[in-house]
Amino acid sequence: MKRYKICVIKGDGIGPEIIDEAIKVLDRVSAKFGFELELSYQLMGGAAIDVFGVPLPDETLKCALESDAVLFGAIGGAKWDGLERHLRPESGLLKLRKELNAFANLRPAIVFKELVNASTLKPEVLDGVDMLVVRELTGGLYFGQPRAKEADRAYNTMVYSRSEIERIARIAFDAARMRQKRVCLVDKANVLETSELWRDVAQSVKSDYEDVSLEYMYVDNAAMQLVRNPAQFDVILTENLFGDILSDEASQICGSIGLLPSASMGGKVGIYEPIHGSAPDIAGQGVANPIATILSAGMMLRYALGESAAADAIDTAVRKIIAEGYRTKDISLFDAKEICSCAEMGSIIAQQIDAL
Ligand code: NAD
Repeated sequence: MKRYKICVIKGDGIGPEIIDEAIKVLDRVSAKFGFELELSYQLMGGAAIDVFGVPLPDETLKCALESDAVLFGAIGGAKWDGLERHLRPESGLLKLRKELNAFANLRPAIVFKELVNASTLKPEVLDGVDMLVVRELTGGLYFGQPRAKEADRAYNTMVYSRSEIERIARIAFDAARMRQKRVCLVDKANVLETSELWRDVAQSVKSDYEDVSLEYMYVDNAAMQLVRNPAQFDVILTENLFGDILSDEASQICGSIGLLPSASMGGKVGIYEPIHGSAPDIAGQGVANPIATILSAGMMLRYALGESAAADAIDTAVRKIIAEGYRTKDISLFDAKEICSCAEMGSIIAQQIDAL
């Protein structure tokens, strides 16, 4: 029987709740499709700070590097916000992404027709929304040096090299080839030199992809176009900060940030994580939506382990239970049929896997 090593990081806030549900579903698909998952639970973020005093302990990094994939919940919370930046939970996640060279963050955003009412946009605008945000994850403002906060002045640096842009651009073009063959580079080339370089590099990569179109859009316009006509987008290629913001916006178009999964890839080991944070405002209440994490586990099976039948089963099970009317609180705003807790939602999806 095939056996895979998974480094599981629950993190903080709702992290443990949503990861527990993803594991419930993984248990079912692994039994059904005949493979074994060896799970190693590790600490990161605030949970690690509380035990080890650092947000990314060596043991966690070692485990991640030695695993076939990392399944991650979320980190962060007010308790640790006052710490020095390099000791804060977010620094642990940034370091993990960097150490694993997870430079490509793929964030699919699809509107399920049954969830049209959970979106705050009009139904007619949502028809056909199916986009992929390809976000650069290990460069730009989040990592650029120098950076500092002084008493009356603070600065960050946005820096990108040609090779950093080229490798993520190729991922976007490859992905577009398997979709509607359209890449939209979102930047701020009217103001930023880094964006000018992004355009140069994207244009030269495009010459290897004659069948894929490339258009450019300023990020301020893209933010507006996403709510005006989201169905116009196929693949959005963008840098770290813009991708962070636009994918949260895309999630609300789909109904809830609790629905959107992601894969952070590039190096030997990828990180599979929902796009949302630790949601301290709802942590411990059992109301978090685990679907983003469950779908992220599906992306892990597909991209890291090559278990595509099991990944398909997760996607199908999620679609079915949504079609049947099961909703967590965040997606039941306008058409509550059956409101489930986080744990109930995980169990219903797991049972659906058996029933497929
Ligand atoms: P957030 O994504 O945690 O929450 C934003 C809003 O969405 C909240 O109202 C929350 O209740 C809701 N929400 C998020 N996930 C949900 C889910 N699965 N089901 C239902 N509702 C959900 O963003 P925030 O409030 O800006 O940040 C909270 C903490 O998370 C901060 O410490 C931040 O630094 C951290 N954060 C971590 C990550 C990560 O771990 N990848 C990403 C973003 C933010």
